[in-house]
Amino acid sequence: MRSARHQTSLENENSMRGMTDERVLVTGGAGYIGSHTIKQLLARGRKVVALDNLSAGHREMVLCDELVVVDVTDLDGLRQAFSRYRIGAVIHFAAHTAVGESVENPEKYYRNNLLGGLNVLRLMQERGIRTLIFSSSAAVYGEPRSIPIKEAHPAAPVNPYGRSKRMFEEILTDCGTAYGLQHVSLRYFNAAGSDEEGQIGERHEPETHLIPIVLEAAAGLRPHIEIYGTDYPTRDGTGVRDYIHVDDLARAHVAALEAVEDGYAAPVYNLGIGRGYTVHQVIDACRRVTGREIPVVEGPRRPGDPPALVADPERAMGDLDWRPRFTTLEPIVKTAWRWMQADGVRS
Ligand code: UDP
Repeated sequence: MRSARHQTSLENENSMRGMTDERVLVTGGAGYIGSHTIKQLLARGRKVVALDNLSAGHREMVLCDELVVVDVTDLDGLRQAFSRYRIGAVIHFAAHTAVGESVENPEKYYRNNLLGGLNVLRLMQERGIRTLIFSSSAAVYGEPRSIPIKEAHPAAPVNPYGRSKRMFEEILTDCGTAYGLQHVSLRYFNAAGSDEEGQIGERHEPETHLIPIVLEAAAGLRPHIEIYGTDYPTRDGTGVRDYIHVDDLARAHVAALEAVEDGYAAPVYNLGIGRGYTVHQVIDACRRVTGREIPVVEGPRRPGDPPALVADPERAMGDLDWRPRFTTLEPIVKTAWRWMQADGVRS
C-alpha cells in the first residue's frame, strides 16, 4: 500500500511532518520499548514529549527534550501534562508487563493497564487528539492453535496481562466507532536487544526476560539460567519465541503512526521476525556471542507460558513498508551483550 505513495516525495513528506510543532506524546517513554521508539521518532524529525512515572523506566534513557513525570492512573496530573503541550498523536506504552506478576496480582494489572489507558483516551477526547498507537502483545493470542500467527487468529489470552491488553484493544475498537478515534494496536512478540548505537538499552529491575538473564549468567552475575520447562511439544522440549530487535520494533511504531496519519493503517499488526527459537537455541547463541560458559538448570514450566509464539509479520511488512533489519538471533544478542557490558561499567 505504501509503495505508490513512496514514489511521490517521501523525503519532502517527512520534513513536513518534522515541521509541525505538534508533539507525539509517548507514555511509558522512559521504558525499554518507549525509549527506543522516541529515538526513532526523533530520527524522523518528530517532536516528542515523554511521559513516565519512572517506576520501571529510567530518566537517562529519554532522549527527547521533554519528560513529564506522572502516573497514567492520575487523571489530574495527566490532564496538566496534556494541557502543557500541543499534542498531535499518542503512543501508549505505559503499562505493567510481567506475565508472572499479573497472575499473582491481577488487580494491579487491570488497574494500571486499563484505567491508565482509559485516562489517556479521556484526555485525547478532551483535547481533540484522534490518533493513538497502542502497545499490545502476542500474549493476546494465548495458546495459539497454529503457527505462525496471523492477526486473524482468535484472541484468547491465558493470563491477566494478556487479558488486559486484549480488553484495551476492544475498548479502542469501540472508541474508534463511537468517537472517530484512529488507532493501531501493535502486537509484539519478544522484544530483544538494545539500540544499535549503544546509546540506550534494556534495563529491567527485576529482570524476567530470557536473553538478559542468560547474558547475566554469562557475565557471572547469576549462578545459572533456569529453563522453565523442558517437556513442551517443541523441537527440543523448551519454549519457542520470536525475538524481534527493539530498534525494528521501534521503527514499526513510527511506520504505524505515519500510516494512521495518512489514513491507510489496519487496526492490528503482529510484529516479529517470523522465526522461532527455543530456549536452548537462545542459550547457545549467547554462548557463541559471549564466548563464556553458561550453566543451565532445568526447572518446571512457568505458569501462563504458552509452548510457542511465532509471528506472521506479513501484514506489517506489506502495509507499513517495514522490514525487520535483524532477521536472526545472534546479531540481536550481540547488541544486548554490548549494552550490558557498557551499562555494567556505567552503574
Ligand atoms: N524463560 C526461561 N527461563 C527464564 C526466563 C524465560 O526458560 O529465566 C523462557 C520462557 O519460559 C519463555 C522464553 O524463555 O519460553 C521467553 O521468556 P521471556 O520471559 O523472555 O518472554 P515471554 O515470552 O514470557 O514474554
